[in-house]
Amino acid sequence: MANSYSRDQNGVIRMTEEEAKEVQNVQCRSRDFWTYDLSANKEVLQAALDVLHNCTPGNKFTVEYKDCQNSCRLVIFCHPCNTELSSLDPFISHAAGKNHKKCVVQLTNKQQTERSLKQSFELKPFNAPKKIFERGSLEDNLDTCRPRVLGMQFVYKEKLEEGGSYYYSCQLCDLRHASHEKIYQHLTGKSHNKKYLAVKFKRRVESPDEYEKACKEIEEREGKINHTIIDFSKRMSLSGVYG
Ligand SMILES: [Zn+2]
Ligand SMILES: [Zn+2]
Repeated sequence: MANSYSRDQNGVIRMTEEEAKEVQNVQCRSRDFWTYDLSANKEVLQAALDVLHNCTPGNKFTVEYKDCQNSCRLVIFCHPCNTELSSLDPFISHAAGKNHKKCVVQLTNKQQTERSLKQSFELKPFNAPKKIFERGSLEDNLDTCRPRVLGMQFVYKEKLEEGGSYYYSCQLCDLRHASHEKIYQHLTGKSHNKKYLAVKFKRRVESPDEYEKACKEIEEREGKINHTIIDFSKRMSLSGVYG
């Protein structure tokens, strides 16, 4: 009977919906279908399930062999529910039932969440712009700039007078009270990055290629700038200083 269906180039049966319904609603009604001519019927039933059920997203029914009472028979296995269905009626009521639908929805949601989490990790290296900082701030400039930015944990800022602009200090390089422009030049320049490579990683780079390679590797791992720069003027009591 399996020979009367058309097949694709890989030899897999391709049924029309009419044919699939005939298999499910007529051929499967016979007890013998499940217990004789197993390999041919397995193939036929699988093709019918593919057309009628497995095309619905989340559904996955496969036809399996099962040993029983010194012989072998066919069963349908529902993968989302991890449930075996040993003949037509239990299968039909299972496939149309609430529990099965709930299982499929839960599983599909879980897979989608996992997929989108995985994508967000894969698509964004850690040094991609975070775009979470106030526009025009030093943090924003460093977050979105092209040059490599490393070692931001050594930088802090403070206001030297109330209501004035921030001044920035780099503890790594002993640079104190630099303006926005000056610290930007410092943090995007080679001497700060080279010092960071040497102090933290004991790495000395000679050629520009080596420098770029080392900075890229560390920037992708640590990010350019991940937090707002620590504000020391907030830590010391301003009222004590200015009051
Ligand atoms: Zn199910
Ligand atoms: Zn520095």
